[in-house]
Amino acid sequence: AKSEGRGTYRFFEAKMGAQVRDRRLLEHDMRHAIARGEMHLVYQPQTDVTTGAVIGFEVLLRWQHPERGAVSPAVFIPIAEESGIILQIGEWVLREACREAASWANPLSVAVNVSAVQILAPHFIQIVHEVLFQTGLKPGRLEIEITETALIRDPPRAHSNLHQLKALGVRLAMDDFGTGYSSLSNLRSYPFDKIKIDGSFIKSVDTNAQTAAIVRSVLGLGRGLGLPVLAEGVETEGELGFLVAENCEAAQGYLLGRPARIGQFSEHTHGLRTP
Ligand code: C2E
Ligand code: CA
Ligand code: CA
Ligand code: CA
Repeated sequence: AKSEGRGTYRFFEAKMGAQVRDRRLLEHDMRHAIARGEMHLVYQPQTDVTTGAVIGFEVLLRWQHPERGAVSPAVFIPIAEESGIILQIGEWVLREACREAASWANPLSVAVNVSAVQILAPHFIQIVHEVLFQTGLKPGRLEIEITETALIRDPPRAHSNLHQLKALGVRLAMDDFGTGYSSLSNLRSYPFDKIKIDGSFIKSVDTNAQTAAIVRSVLGLGRGLGLPVLAEGVETEGELGFLVAENCEAAQGYLLGRPARIGQFSEHTHGLRTP
C-alpha cells in the first residue's frame, strides 16, 4: 500500500508539472495573441424584461488559438490575471468595445468586464478617461462589470478607484452577485448602479422554491437600495416568466440572445434612433 501511495504521488506530481508547463505555454502565446489577430469580441444582448427591448450589450472576449482552437475565457483570463497580461488585454478590450459602441446609431449601453488587477492598477482611471475621450463615447453608456473578488483584495483602493470612475460618469455593475465573496455591506460601501444576479440562481428559478426565494430577496434588496437588477443566464421561457412576474428589470441569457459578433445585431446598433 505504501509503494502504491508513492506511485500515486509521482503520478500526481507529473500531472502537476504538465499543467504548469501548459499554463506557461498559454501565457507565452497570449502575449502575442492580440498582435496576431487571434482575439476578438462578442456581444450578448441585455433586454428590458417588461418591454423585451434590447437596452445594451455585454462584451465577452474570445481567443481563437492557432493550434488549440477556441480557448475559454474561464481558462485564459485567470492566467492573464496572474501574469499581469490582463492589463494589456483589458485595455484593448475596453478600447475596442468603446470604439464599437460609439459607432452605433442607437445609444445603447456597453458593459465591459474588468478584472481586479485592472481596477486596482494605478493608471486604470486615466486609461478609462483617455479611451472615452479618444472614442467619443458618452461616459454614461459605459458600464463596468466588477466582481466582489476585486473589492476584497484592497478595499481602500477599490473604494477610491470606483468613486473616481463614478466621477467620470461611468456606470458600475456588481457582477456574479450571490457567489464568491458576496457581502451585503459591499452594496452599501461601493457606488454600484446595478446588481447582476449570477446565472446559477436563475437556473430553475421557476421550479425550485429555494432558488425562487433567494432571487425574490435579491430583487427586494435592489428595490430597497434603488438599484436595478439584471438576471444572468436566462435560458427558458419559464425562468423569464418568473422574472416578469417578480418585476426584475433586465435579463440576459441564451433565450434572449447568444454572444455573437456585433454584426449579428445590426438591427439594434444601426436602427433608427429611438426618440
Ligand atoms: P461573466 O462575466 O459572468 O459572463 C457571463 C458568461 O456566461 C459568459 O461566458 C457567457 O457566454 C455565459 N452565458 C451567457 N448567457 C448564458 C446562458 O444563458 N447560459 C449559460 N450557461 N451561460 C451563459 P464566457 O463568455 O465563457 O465568459 C466567462 C467569464 O470570463 C465571464 O463571466 C468573465 O468573468 C470572464 N470574461 C469574459 N470576457 C472577459 C473580458 O473581456 N475581461 C475580463 N476581465 N473577463 C472576461
Ligand atoms: Ca460579466
Ligand atoms: Ca456574471
Ligand atoms: Ca462569472
